[in-house]
Amino acid sequence: MFMEGPLVEYHPVSLPVDWNGGIAYLDRDGVLNLGSANYVKNVDEVLILKGVSEAIMSLRNAGYRIVIVTNQSPLSRGLLDQKALESIHSHIQDLVGEFDVIMTCPHRTFDGCRCRKPHPGMLNSASELLRGVSHKKLDWWGEKPIPVHPLDLMVGDRKSDMGAGWAVGARLFKVDERVGIPQIIDRIIAGDAGDLFDPGD
Ligand SMILES: [Zn+2]
Repeated sequence: MFMEGPLVEYHPVSLPVDWNGGIAYLDRDGVLNLGSANYVKNVDEVLILKGVSEAIMSLRNAGYRIVIVTNQSPLSRGLLDQKALESIHSHIQDLVGEFDVIMTCPHRTFDGCRCRKPHPGMLNSASELLRGVSHKKLDWWGEKPIPVHPLDLMVGDRKSDMGAGWAVGARLFKVDERVGIPQIIDRIIAGDAGDLFDPGD
C-alpha cells in the first residue's frame, strides 16, 4: 500500500511580521536524538543527544525557523503508526523546544515518492508553507542552486540529508550520529559556509 505523504505537522511559532530569517532544516535521528537500527517506535526509545535543547535555542535566538525533515519508512512497513509518530514528536519538543514544521516521509526507497531524502520534496513543501516560495527545479548534475535565503541550512548525519540540502542550495553540515547538532552549532551561528558536497560522488 502506498501511503500519502509527506506527513505534515505544522505549528509555526509567532515571529515578527517582517521576519526574513533563514530556515534550519534538521534531520531527526542522529541529529536531535539517538537513532536506532530497529527504528524509534515509541517515546520510551527517544534519547535526546547532549546539548540539543541549547542548540535549538541558539537557532531560535538567531532568528531561524526550525523544520524537521525525517525519513520514516517503518510507517509504510507497518512497524509504526501515525499516532505513535506524533507522540514521539511532541515528546521531543517537550524536551528540546518547538519546531515550526515537522515533515515525515513514510515511504520506502522503491515507492519512488517525491519526499524521501535525498529528494528535496519535504524541504520545498516546508519552505512553501513558511514563506510561500521554494525551489521548483531539481538538477543533480547542475550547479548547486542559490538558496531562497542565504542562511538556509541542512544538518544531517547521512549523505541523503546532504543531497536534500544541496538541492535547495542550503549550507550543509554533516554530523556524527552519536553527537548530533551540538557538534556544529557554533559554526552555524558564526555564519560558516558549511561542508562541500557533490551529489555526483
Ligand atoms: Zn516519501
